[in-house]
Amino acid sequence: MNSNELFEKSLRLVPGGVHSPVRSFKGLHCTPRFINHGKGAYITDEDGKNYIDFCMSFGPLILGHQDQDVKEAIIKALDNGWTFGACEKYSLELAEFIIGKISFIDQIRFTSSGTEAVMTAIRLARGVTGRAKIIKFNGCYHGHMDAMLIKAGSGLAGTSEASSKGITEQQANDTLVCELADLNEVKNVFERYPNDIAAIFIEPLPANNGLLIQDQAFLQGLRDLCTKYGALLVFDEVISGFRMGFDGMAGITKIIPDIVTYGKIIGGGMPVGAIAGKKDVMQFLAPLGPVYQAGTLSGNPVAMVAGLTSLKKLTPDAYVKLEHNTKAVVNTMAEWMKAKGFEDYQTIQYGSLFYPISTHDKLNNITQLPKNMNERFFSLFKTMLDKGIYLAPNAYEVAFGSLSHDAKVIEDLKNRLWN
Ligand SMILES: *Cc1c(COP(=O)(O)O)cnc(C)c1O
Repeated sequence: MNSNELFEKSLRLVPGGVHSPVRSFKGLHCTPRFINHGKGAYITDEDGKNYIDFCMSFGPLILGHQDQDVKEAIIKALDNGWTFGACEKYSLELAEFIIGKISFIDQIRFTSSGTEAVMTAIRLARGVTGRAKIIKFNGCYHGHMDAMLIKAGSGLAGTSEASSKGITEQQANDTLVCELADLNEVKNVFERYPNDIAAIFIEPLPANNGLLIQDQAFLQGLRDLCTKYGALLVFDEVISGFRMGFDGMAGITKIIPDIVTYGKIIGGGMPVGAIAGKKDVMQFLAPLGPVYQAGTLSGNPVAMVAGLTSLKKLTPDAYVKLEHNTKAVVNTMAEWMKAKGFEDYQTIQYGSLFYPISTHDKLNNITQLPKNMNERFFSLFKTMLDKGIYLAPNAYEVAFGSLSHDAKVIEDLKNRLWN
C-alpha cells in the first residue's frame, strides 16, 4: 500500500489517522507520508520516494538515522533483556555521564518523555515551595499536561484560559501566561501574586512556535525575579539540551535554573525524558521526599544505552560541525528561496536549529509572526516535498540539522533544490 492508501486506513483506526497531531499534515492539502525507513540524513516513504530529512523525529536524531554506534549498542543491550522494573547499571551510567558534564546538576531522574519530565517539574516546584501558581510564556510548548495547555486570557496581563477542552478552570487559573521578551509583564505578575508563584517555566530558546530567540537580559531578569520572590526557575531544555552545546542554553547563558528538564536527544531516538537539579530540590522526590513520581518503564535499559551512546558522541568538535553543517544548509536554502519566489522569507538559525519564516522582521515573541504564514508555508512545504526535502509539516515547527547533514548531503540538497 502507498502512503495515501495507508492514511485512508489509518483514518478509520486512529483519531485523525495519527498518534500525535503534528504528523497529520493538517492544512497542508496533502496526505502524510508513511515512512518506511531512515538512514543518515534521509528517509524513504512507502511509495519509494526519498527525502532529505529536516524533521529528524522533531529533534532526537542529532546523529542522523540509524547511527551505527547507537544501533550496535542497542542490539548488545537487547541480549540482556529489555526491561526489568528493577535497579540496573544502564541508567546509572547515563546519570553519571550527564552529571559529570553538567556542573549545575547534582541529581537526575529519568522519565519516558519530555511531557512527563515537565509534569514532574511542576509538581516538584509546587512541593518545594508550597505554592500553587506557575508562570509560562505564550508560544512556549512544554508537553501536553493540563497545566501547560493554557493560553493568555483576554483580560488582564497574566490571566489565562485553557487552550484545549478537558482542562478545568482551576487548572487554567493556576497557570499565569506572559509574553516572551516582556520582563515588565512578569514583574507585574509577581507584584500581584508575591507569595503564590512556585516557578517560572520557560524554553530558554523557545523553539516550538518558530525560533523566538530571547535576550540574555530577559532570561537574567527571570532568574533575578525568581530569586527575589522565592520561586524556582525551570529551564525546559527538551529541545535545546545537548543540542546548544552539551549543557544547553543554561551553559550558553550561564544562567543557572533550579530545575532543568530534558527529552528528545537524551534518549538517542528512544523514549526518554529527565528532570534534574541541585540535591536540595531533587531530594523532594519520592521515595526520599513527599513529591510522588514514578514510571514502569522509566530508565528503560535499551533507551538508556541509546541515550548514553548518542551523548558520548557529542564532543565539542561535534558541536562545531553541527553548526557548520546547518549554516551551509541555511545558506543553500536562502539562496534558492531568494531566487525562486520566496524572497519574503528569512531563515533564522541558532546552532543546529533553523526556521524559514515569511517575514524579514526580527522575532522574539509569538505575536510578531506574520498573519499569512500558513499559506506561505504551505507553498514552501509542498515545493520542498516534491523536490525530496522533508520539513516538519507545520508552519510553526523549526527544522533540525544533524551531524549526518554533511557536505555530501548539502551538495545533494543543492541539486534537489535547483533541478
Ligand atoms: C517536545 C517537547 C516537550 C514534550 O516532550 P515529549 O517527549 O513530546 O512529551 C516538552 N518541552 C519541549 C520544549 C519540547 O520541545
